[in-house]
Amino acid sequence: MARYIGSLCRICRREGEKLFLKGDRCYTDKCAIERRKYPPGEHGQGYRKLSDYGLQLREKQKVRKMYGILERQFRRYFNEAARKKGVTGETLLQFIESRLDNVVYRMGFAPNRRKARQLIGHGHILVNGRKVNIASYTVKAGDVVEIKESCKGMSDILDSVAKSEHRGIPSWVEVDSVNLKGKVLHIPSREEIQLPVQEQLIVELYSK
Ligand code: SF4
Repeated sequence: MARYIGSLCRICRREGEKLFLKGDRCYTDKCAIERRKYPPGEHGQGYRKLSDYGLQLREKQKVRKMYGILERQFRRYFNEAARKKGVTGETLLQFIESRLDNVVYRMGFAPNRRKARQLIGHGHILVNGRKVNIASYTVKAGDVVEIKESCKGMSDILDSVAKSEHRGIPSWVEVDSVNLKGKVLHIPSREEIQLPVQEQLIVELYSK
């Protein structure tokens, strides 16, 4: 599957916002957005004024890149959200927040979603006691997500958990950082998904 392997900071600079793709570095003054807040590339010394379409497109790209979701999969989430009752933009965000890679990241077991995907892919994550190695797996309220017993000593995981406090654990999950186990209390509401995103722009883009 196609995956972006270039500079992660470049993605943030393109979007003009911190997308927290790296982990701890994102919270320091070494962050590229703090140092060079202009688009990457030879001609990128300022952000151009965008058309309505441009704004919608950038908003969609921002969310997609933040969560590391490919276009086709993102579109599928949108189509599913549009079919459901309720506010489509909010439902879309709830779908992507419920992905297992995001939940592992939110619980603090990984410093970023990319690393979370790696832990899942390597079979280090259990959901309700069973190994799940699909990053896009949808978790439900009440699900228990934990690190596999034999992996609980991994320094990457312990380091991430030790530093998870400054990233903040959201109120919709409960984490036992000693036993490396967490529970999804409920699917987050829009207020609990603290993202600087105007999801309505994404809905407008896909509704054309
Ligand atoms: Fe983005 Fe993090 Fe790089 Fe800053 S350090 S530009 S937030 S990936």
